[in-house]
Amino acid sequence: MSKTLQAIRGMNDILPEQTPLWRYFESTVARLLDGYGYGQIRMPIVEFTELFKRSIGEVTDIVEKEMYTFADRNGDSLTLRPEGTAACVRAVLEHGITGGGQVQKLWYIGPMFRHERPQKGRYRQFHQIGVEAFNLAGPDVDAELIILTWRLWGELGIRDAVTLELNSLGTSEARGRYREALVEFLSARISQLDEDSQRRLATNPLRILDSKNPETQALLVDAPKLSEYLDEESVVHFNGLKARLDAAGIPYVINPKLVRGLDYYSKTVFEWVTDKLGAQGTVCAGGRYDGLVEQMGGKPTTGVGFAMGIERLILLLETLEKVPESIARQVDVYLCAFGDAAELAAIALTERLRDQLPGIRLVVNASAGSFKSQFKKADKSGALYALILGDDELAKQEVSVKPLRGQGEQQSIAWDALPAHLAPCIAQG
Ligand code: ATP
Ligand code: MG
Repeated sequence: MSKTLQAIRGMNDILPEQTPLWRYFESTVARLLDGYGYGQIRMPIVEFTELFKRSIGEVTDIVEKEMYTFADRNGDSLTLRPEGTAACVRAVLEHGITGGGQVQKLWYIGPMFRHERPQKGRYRQFHQIGVEAFNLAGPDVDAELIILTWRLWGELGIRDAVTLELNSLGTSEARGRYREALVEFLSARISQLDEDSQRRLATNPLRILDSKNPETQALLVDAPKLSEYLDEESVVHFNGLKARLDAAGIPYVINPKLVRGLDYYSKTVFEWVTDKLGAQGTVCAGGRYDGLVEQMGGKPTTGVGFAMGIERLILLLETLEKVPESIARQVDVYLCAFGDAAELAAIALTERLRDQLPGIRLVVNASAGSFKSQFKKADKSGALYALILGDDELAKQEVSVKPLRGQGEQQSIAWDALPAHLAPCIAQG
């Protein structure tokens, strides 16, 4: 017997029982972003490999070991996008929509691909919602991005479970000076560094700051501090952000070791973290990347954005039991027709009901089964009402309406009176 085919490790199907929660999450975010004036952009899932090398940085974990890269039939090197910012910047440049200082507030949603070790909250295909704002240089937009995520946590009922961590990386000049000081300090102690950090000392020394190794962390206690190397401009920007967060009543902690994995950040970086998901605790992360557009061949254009991991937020909603009652039910009304004549009549009746009650979630079961088995299905569907259409009802142009969730007795309702009778159950949906 041939082996059955399976999905690729770390790439998941999202089954019908799970999609209602995904759709609830996605529509909540979409509505919120509409409310703040962000427009949706949709980019391809595949781009030239060069795009990610140039934007994310050659010596990052993503580019060094996590990308799904392959040759196109004509030999071009293509990559499944590991994140959205690079493609978003490519798109705004290609279409000239940030030219002349035009402000763009954009968001996107979709799958991202990274060849990581799959575990809870970490997958090889995962989904992000990303938000990017271009040509807004002040801390007010950094604050807006954080304020709107705070509102989202409020709407989802998870504010108590997340903490905002903030840091400033300074301008690239300031960071360059700090990098030199850090490298000098660590080079003198290189034998005390773990293997990973030794390698990073030459390639991406700032990443050593978030090493998980306790000995490396102990060594860093006396190391030069990034905050002491910040330039005036970055300090003013960071203070402006903090003042706005204070004004909005959003609590935060300054994490001087927060450096983020990608090369392109400058000034503000932030993460929303939770202790409810084990090791994969960052649910949303982002920062400012004022140099990126220019680095990618555009005119100087400031940028700031974040991405949230949908799988982790879904896990958090489930863990905290914040799945709203209303999304558990997917069906309002379930119609059971018995007999050939009733089955035919049911077509016109249900199509008319769909006209009369837009949005009704009406499942028709006319094909198979005894009264009892159809009834079981109606109940299992989660519907509020079962409608029964048999020969007797058909003759009287009625249906029997049976409440399935304990709201009163079964009664016969004339076809014409059905919309009024069923309308309240749809409003609840
Ligand atoms: P981590 O430190 O957890 O690896 P990251 O810094 O690599 O995260 P970003 O590139 O900033 O992550 O992506 C933003 C968000 O996307 C993360 O905070 C997380 O919620 C989510 N995310 C990143 N990688 C994965 C993954 N492999 N599986 C699921 N979600 C992910
Ligand atoms: Mg990562």
